[in-house]
Amino acid sequence: MDRKDLLYEGKAKQIYITEDVNYLIMVFKDELTAFHGTKRGRFDGKGALCNAVSTYLFQYLENYHVGTHFVKKLSDNEMLVRRLEMIPIEVVVRNIATASLAKTYDLEEGSTLKYPIIEYRLKNDRLGDPMINEHHAYAMGHATPEEMKMISRIASKVNAILKSFFDRRSLMLVDFKIEFGKYDRSILIADEVSPDTCRIWDRKTNKKMDKDRFRYDMGRVDKVYQELLERIISA
Ligand code: ADP
Ligand code: UDP
Repeated sequence: MDRKDLLYEGKAKQIYITEDVNYLIMVFKDELTAFHGTKRGRFDGKGALCNAVSTYLFQYLENYHVGTHFVKKLSDNEMLVRRLEMIPIEVVVRNIATASLAKTYDLEEGSTLKYPIIEYRLKNDRLGDPMINEHHAYAMGHATPEEMKMISRIASKVNAILKSFFDRRSLMLVDFKIEFGKYDRSILIADEVSPDTCRIWDRKTNKKMDKDRFRYDMGRVDKVYQELLERIISA
């Protein structure tokens, strides 16, 4: 399937329409952004690495009967996906206390939570992606109670699957963000699951293997993204 018109250009990806209205092509860019787009950078091959990691993880989740928008990897930077009616909510799942969570609630940095936390954010960079709860989502018409129930159930399942996936590679899934969209009457995972959208630490050394290296100028972002891909596909 070929790219037609550009539908949307975001911070990390371009979205193209195709000859079939049900499918889109996502092009992963080499740009990196943080703090709602206020910090910007790039490295060659970053888009390809995020596409490769997302492809692997979407296929892995599909094996566990988690529905995703993934159809096919088309090239290094391109993924063919099902076009969804996006729900403008970022769903964050946390297993380990770090960053704002540790600070806000005075939790020990790096401590394991007794139970995963699911947070919802309204996807709106201008407003700084404000935190919302299920009731905001119903009240603002973004999702019904049934849809939010399904979203929370899928998010928990994804967390359980990916936590043990990374555990087997001596990596810890600290937290991650996923997005959802509607397709017929089902809810599928959309967007990407990559080091841009997850926090992943090495279990032995706590080395950060994700976008925090860019956010906090820790260096070697390119090497670490490459190492993460190798560890993901190695086992
Ligand atoms: P942002 O919009 O946050 O800058 P990106 O650069 O990653 O993010 O842009 C990708 C955009 O495409 C996001 O707004 C995301 O919600 C949207 N999107 C992802 N998957 C799909 C899909 N399957 N159907 C429609 N839109 C999608
Ligand atoms: N995240 C993301 N996109 C965003 C915001 C967060 O992918 O727009 C991911 C981020 O990579 C991390 C998790 O969601 O894995 C929690 O990030 P958050 O911004 O909430 O960080 P914190 O508030 O903990 O500093």
